Amino acid sequence: MHKNSMHKNFPMVPRVIFGRGSFGQLGQILTLKRKSEEAPFIFLVDDVFEGSEHITNAIPLEHNDRIIFISADEEPKTTQVDALRDEIQATYAQLPSGIIGIGGGTLMDLAKAVALMLTNPGSASDYQGWDLIKNPAVYHVGIPTISGTGAEVSRTTVLTGPYKKLGLNSDHTTFDQVVLDPQLTEGVPKQQWFYTGMDCYIHCIESLQGTYLNAFSQSYGEKAYDLCKEVFLSDELNAEESQDKLMMASWHGGMSIAYSQVGVAHAMSYGLSYLLGTKHGIGNCIVFNHLEEFYPEGVAEFKKMKEKHGIVLPTGLCAGLTDAQFDTMIDIALSLEPLWENALGMDWRNTITRERLRALYERM
Ligand code: NAD
Ligand code: ZN
Repeated sequence: MHKNSMHKNFPMVPRVIFGRGSFGQLGQILTLKRKSEEAPFIFLVDDVFEGSEHITNAIPLEHNDRIIFISADEEPKTTQVDALRDEIQATYAQLPSGIIGIGGGTLMDLAKAVALMLTNPGSASDYQGWDLIKNPAVYHVGIPTISGTGAEVSRTTVLTGPYKKLGLNSDHTTFDQVVLDPQLTEGVPKQQWFYTGMDCYIHCIESLQGTYLNAFSQSYGEKAYDLCKEVFLSDELNAEESQDKLMMASWHGGMSIAYSQVGVAHAMSYGLSYLLGTKHGIGNCIVFNHLEEFYPEGVAEFKKMKEKHGIVLPTGLCAGLTDAQFDTMIDIALSLEPLWENALGMDWRNTITRERLRALYERM
């Protein structure tokens, strides 16, 4: 634990069901949580599953329950959360029995945020920060369909707002229930599988190499790291084993950073995302690929994984950016102080200069 901060007393997901086919038990789980026939369950579902037999048609709708399909092409925004909340409040006389997010980090974060904003007044942008949320959320459930972000276990929901990209970090953010059914990840396209999976791998490296490391984070981080190596470097696993293990890697990676912090790749990736809209998974890969000087072994292994799976990362993202645009990215990256402190220690300001960050961005 870092010496200047209090020991965190953080919430964990109180209920989790794991196993291939466990999605089929969602109906039973929700029945116990229904407040009344007028209080619906609202399912926020990645629109990639519109018409899908094994996901959409298997959602246990009853009474006035409703599915809302949402695109994951862009990361969640505070305005989007506010609009969803307003629409739900205008449609139903009662507060929903629950909000269920089905998809990747994008849909899970939206579900968390909508559940919070149904019981907290104002705009989601008022709560971007740490522990600003006052009231417990509506019951909310996370069901990942792609593995890596750890959003299923975290106490944050990352939103882009009018002034910043920052999470609603609170004890009320964490899901009340998670359904881990690795079968749901079957249709994930290969590139996306790699990008989101590498988010988990990078969580492990940044946590395990960080100065905030402690036995709690290390025990989860090492497990997640070993699982990532099996999934991305071994030839021994069949498809099902690989899906099962990556889902557990994501969980453990999320648990690891809960009690430590991420590092350089995440700080710089937030800069890319804020300016260019680069999504989290691919953005982390683009950045991490150039971070040998910070994480030599981790980056070398990442390159092996990239090669093994024939992944070609986009280049030239920052070609032709103006000085002002570079400055914006650098400002966003530098504002994430705990990440730098975790990565490089208390005197990180002496080693990380704007020029050094600019030179790194220029290579991306
Ligand atoms: P995503 O939710 O953005 O989805 C990526 C792509 O995969 C989308 O095109 C989606 O439609 C597709 N997809 C998902 N499941 C699929 C399936 N089973 N079959 C076919 N296609 C499928 O991806 P992500 O990488 O999981 O999430 C990224 C988001 O998570 C970002 O918004 C990021 O900010 C957030 N995030 C949150 C946390 C947290 O702790 N809350 C942590 C890390 C990242
Ligand atoms: Zn991440």
